[in-house]
Amino acid sequence: MVETSSMQQERQNEPIVRCRWQITGRVQGVGFRPLMYRLANRIHVGGAVWNDAKGVIAEGQGTRRQLDEFIAALRTEAPAAAVIRQITEQPIALHNENEQFEIRRSSESAVATAEVAADLAICPDCLAEIRDPANIRRRGYALTNCTHCGPRFSIIRAVPYDRAATTMADFAMCPACRAEYEAPIDRRFHAQPTACRDCGPQLRLLDRQGSEIDEDAIVAAAQRLTRGEIVAVKGIGGFHLAVRADNETAVARLRQLKHRPAKPLALLCASLIAARRLVFLSPAGETLLTSAAAPIVLARRVAITVIAPSVAPGQHRLGVMLAYTPIHHLLFDQLQTSGIDALVMTSGNDVDEPLVFEDADLPGRLGDLCDAALTHDRLIQRAVDDSVVIDALPEPIILRRARGYVPTPIALPPMCDAAPGLAVGAEMKSTVAVYRDGQAVLSQHLGNLTRPRTFEAFKRSIADLCELFAVTPRWIAHDLHPGYLSTQFARQWAAQHNVPLIGVQHHHAHAAAVLAENEVTRPALAIICDGTGYGTDGTIWGGELLIASIADFRRIGRLRPLLLPGGDACAKQPWRSALSLLYAAFGADFTRLPICRELTDESQLQFVANMLTSGVSCIPSSSTGRLFDGVAALLGLCRRNRFEAEAPMALEAAAAEAGHSARLLREAYRLSETDGLIEIDLTPLVRMLAYGAGHACPAGDLAMLFHETLAAAWAAAIERLIQKTDLRTVALSGGVFCNELFTGLLTRRLEQLGAEVLRHRGVPPNDGGIAYGQAAAASARLNHQGSSPCA
Ligand SMILES: [Zn+2]
Ligand SMILES: [Zn+2]
Ligand SMILES: [Zn+2]
Repeated sequence: MVETSSMQQERQNEPIVRCRWQITGRVQGVGFRPLMYRLANRIHVGGAVWNDAKGVIAEGQGTRRQLDEFIAALRTEAPAAAVIRQITEQPIALHNENEQFEIRRSSESAVATAEVAADLAICPDCLAEIRDPANIRRRGYALTNCTHCGPRFSIIRAVPYDRAATTMADFAMCPACRAEYEAPIDRRFHAQPTACRDCGPQLRLLDRQGSEIDEDAIVAAAQRLTRGEIVAVKGIGGFHLAVRADNETAVARLRQLKHRPAKPLALLCASLIAARRLVFLSPAGETLLTSAAAPIVLARRVAITVIAPSVAPGQHRLGVMLAYTPIHHLLFDQLQTSGIDALVMTSGNDVDEPLVFEDADLPGRLGDLCDAALTHDRLIQRAVDDSVVIDALPEPIILRRARGYVPTPIALPPMCDAAPGLAVGAEMKSTVAVYRDGQAVLSQHLGNLTRPRTFEAFKRSIADLCELFAVTPRWIAHDLHPGYLSTQFARQWAAQHNVPLIGVQHHHAHAAAVLAENEVTRPALAIICDGTGYGTDGTIWGGELLIASIADFRRIGRLRPLLLPGGDACAKQPWRSALSLLYAAFGADFTRLPICRELTDESQLQFVANMLTSGVSCIPSSSTGRLFDGVAALLGLCRRNRFEAEAPMALEAAAAEAGHSARLLREAYRLSETDGLIEIDLTPLVRMLAYGAGHACPAGDLAMLFHETLAAAWAAAIERLIQKTDLRTVALSGGVFCNELFTGLLTRRLEQLGAEVLRHRGVPPNDGGIAYGQAAAASARLNHQGSSPCA
């Protein structure tokens, strides 16, 4: 029998104590409880561990020294996928002295939130096993996993989370797997998707019609990739399309099949060393890349690489991720004999369509995109795209939150305590969120809701999160835009279920998201630089200065509105915004400027000029996104957006290549008070840029001047307010804060003014964060009915 702590202590005569610990962070579904069990046995601590709604609860009984050793070991030996945020300790009454340490079933309320964990990259132990020639059951086995790694969210069908409730239900464990699964000291103790070569799903290579190719699937797939063919590879949350990254013909063909002419493609690297040959990574970037979430990390590209030009044309960064499934590693083990250590790995879908994740889509949707498909019979329950993060300074910027992060709940401050609810987000980069017990569970990135398949995925995702997290919404939060499909859905849903609707203004949702994430509950200033969002006055906003709390806001400033000729057409045709900027800067004679003829042809020029001078079909908007579009077109960097945000990305890339500008920025903008709002007018800057572009000034220098002026103008607006009010905190949000250069320039200027700058941490600054902001604002409003701190 194992010696109990009390028995030991009676000998040593030290007092016995018992403590309860609440441990928060990413501590569920990552092998934390088995680790505690092993440590407790090693250190001779009695007690128990179980999951609760907010993390893990443990009790331990022993001497003070033993308990301290137990907690210290917990920190140092935590599984790679675990992140301990906080451990709080509370002394409690002693129990039976012969108590053994046990793993208890989770409490009822915990089942929902505790056990639905994010998908994790393969761990070092499993990787060693699949390469170990002596390991008969797992050598070369492509679906190896353990409690520290493997699929979770992508395979779960229902709660409570156990094997029968996953897509592994049909695979009975062999006796060896069963023994591992039942042994508390084993790395596979309660690893629900565990399997081996003898009992688990098997890999197959299919041709594009879906017929099996009778060869070793990994070897044959690697040979096809080496020849330059496109192979669909089943990943954790869906299919990727893989192709050699160094073969221009192959990459160009992939682009053609996907109808994706220009948007950058991500790369999968065999190792960190392979990634370092392609991009410059900061220490934080390397940490992200090698983390269990294993996102795509966007980092500045190395000048000379083997990567084909059409992988990321015109970009100063490359998106890289590391092999994160056993299949990826087994493929690279074959490919490296041909010197290939990086593959293009792009999502398996046609342009703007949701990710393909079902084998039934072969031949169908997937068959037209590839030459062969490397798949297996472990089903994917729901599509989960790769997450995308910029390796930015001073800290990373998350652009897309999906695999590896979802569905880990995101905490909200106590002022948001309210009944359970649902937030339906915006329309582009759609995500949804359910709210429960002071936390929001933000869904994976879903995409553009105006695509019918994406809208179906949106509805599925709502049903899915409500079921997995046991949420029966008692309210529903939505955007104010009456035309958004999400708004229309919310209205119908509220009527059907008889629950209140809570409209949250788009830019307030951005502000509430960044405040809630930083747990700032007092009112603050918020600069929201965004594409477009529906304002409370029925106009289109997007360059806003707010006084905002999580619950409430007041608009106090904006960019001077620009006319958008043809409204939404401007989003795809930046040359239209450029003409509008010229009209605002030079008046009705602007068509005489030679630069107009570089922007578009004569008939379109006259057509749009007539719109601008008459005001017909022109929508005024303070959008920052359209300003970036117009300037990019003016500088000849991008006149048509072939993908969303192509023009702003081109503008940032051009500026990033240039040095800092030494011009007198103060002359390039004006601040005024209009309609009770501080207004930023960039007309002088537009004149300078038009002059520079007309006189062959380098576009990069002009792009830098634009970034610096915009940052200086916002900082000047904040300086005025800091003098007048006692507000010293400035929150930054909106899609334009995916621009690292602008974010950095503005942050530095604000900090020089003595302001505390709040940026996003784990929620995207773009519309992928709107649902979280809506959940925060709506729950805070329900909690604080009547008070209005921003008035
Ligand atoms: Zn593992
Ligand atoms: Zn087995
Ligand atoms: Zn937005």
